[in-house]
Amino acid sequence: MGRPIVAIVGRPNVGKSTIFNRIIGDRLAIVEDKPGITRDRIYGIGEWVDQEFSIIDTGGIEIEGEDEIMRSVRMQAELAIEEADVIIFMVDAKAGVTAADEEVAQMLFRSKKPVVLAVNKVDNIQRQDEIYEFYSLGFGDPVGISGSHGIGLGDLLEAAAKHFPENKDEEYGEEVIKVALIGRPNVGKSSLVNAILGEERVIVSDVAGTTRDAIDTPFEKDGQKYVIIDTAGMRKRGKVYETTEKYSVMRAMKAIERADVVLVVINGEEGIIEQDKHIAGYAHDAGKASIFVVNKWDVVEKDDKTMHQFTQKIRDHFLFMTYAPVVFVSAKTHQKLHKLLPVVNQVAEQHAMRVQTHLLNDVVSDAVMMTPPPTDRGKRLRINYATQVSVKPPSFVFFVNDSDLMHFSYERYLENKIRAAFGFEGTPIRLFTRRKS
Ligand code: GDP
Ligand code: GDP
Repeated sequence: MGRPIVAIVGRPNVGKSTIFNRIIGDRLAIVEDKPGITRDRIYGIGEWVDQEFSIIDTGGIEIEGEDEIMRSVRMQAELAIEEADVIIFMVDAKAGVTAADEEVAQMLFRSKKPVVLAVNKVDNIQRQDEIYEFYSLGFGDPVGISGSHGIGLGDLLEAAAKHFPENKDEEYGEEVIKVALIGRPNVGKSSLVNAILGEERVIVSDVAGTTRDAIDTPFEKDGQKYVIIDTAGMRKRGKVYETTEKYSVMRAMKAIERADVVLVVINGEEGIIEQDKHIAGYAHDAGKASIFVVNKWDVVEKDDKTMHQFTQKIRDHFLFMTYAPVVFVSAKTHQKLHKLLPVVNQVAEQHAMRVQTHLLNDVVSDAVMMTPPPTDRGKRLRINYATQVSVKPPSFVFFVNDSDLMHFSYERYLENKIRAAFGFEGTPIRLFTRRKS
């Protein structure tokens, strides 16, 4: 199931980023401990009663011009309304209700999205009275919180979690491969969709053609059903402000959460830029299968080494995603396009693959025998056994004597051994440790 998306909206200085950092807390360290990716804290992963969610602080999307603050806040609210499942609307107890708060409140109110009103800077009991004036914004009981003192966070998340959508993935059957195309504006996402749908033997479902506001495009080829997620949202992109990194990542989040396979579309003509990494990074963190699709290959001047060199460049930039295959295509000339869906099928299969426990444990014991875990202050990691606990993405639990002894480099080693034995091409895999002596 996709993680619900929570967005924090509010004027500058009400404390959005303070709360954001509190919510993602120590998980941030895990996310940032990944080579080859810069993270400007565009999003984070939070957890409430075993349920993971994605959280975004919409602050910092700035627009130039008159009345800058108002316009920025308005845009943040718009984005949150479109992309989030739940909105945390944050106001400042010290400042009271401002005109900007009222305008945002109206936008949110009209949208009918679930909103939790958080009154920040309620640093002590005395201040609790100050939340009452915020009833006037019309969102029911405000939740008093204090970012700097860590007060009320549990209440806030509990209120937000009440609005998390129920299991969202019943939309399509298990047999349907859900594909999202992501990438910067103008890399050729819409052109690729049209090109795929225009291929021979592709049967586009009537529903998509007749329903004007259908956001997904279902189709079938060679007996395999697919759906391209959020095709409408893709077409709508490309406004100037969407070139900001934060915006483009936020735009892609929902589609990625709903997908099985993410096509990270890169403009072969321009090469890779930082922004590509943020979007791909989200797909990785969301546990989705990914394929790098280098588009516009028709305009690239090439010899027999060009493809290899470009692949190498992708590997250098996306160190954390070496599992993702690279495909070169042209949406314009349809060059190599027929190779794309077979790769989609393949990574979708690997994403859903389950390995038998005894085979897994053979591989793990061989790996441990070949390179035993290093000792840490005289103690050595002992792995009792391992088992695959879930798919999409394939996730493994290692039962060990002491979880603290499982170091990043050894985990990486085990991951490599598992991949060497079973493949898992195109999909991230997750390793967890659990203590068992
Ligand atoms: P943002 O612009 O909405 O992201 O706000 P920030 O998180 O950057 O916070 C703005 C200012 O408010 C900073 O100086 C924070 O230290 C302060 N602040 C944040 N949370 C609280 C709080 O709960 N109580 C008080 N008194 N100050 C806070
Ligand atoms: P999107 O914003 O990612 O959906 O990109 P579009 O599909 O709108 O394409 C942006 C521009 O790139 C358009 O002018 C397309 O005609 C052009 N384009 C798309 N794919 C290709 C391709 O494979 N080769 C060439 N030469 N141009 C392409």
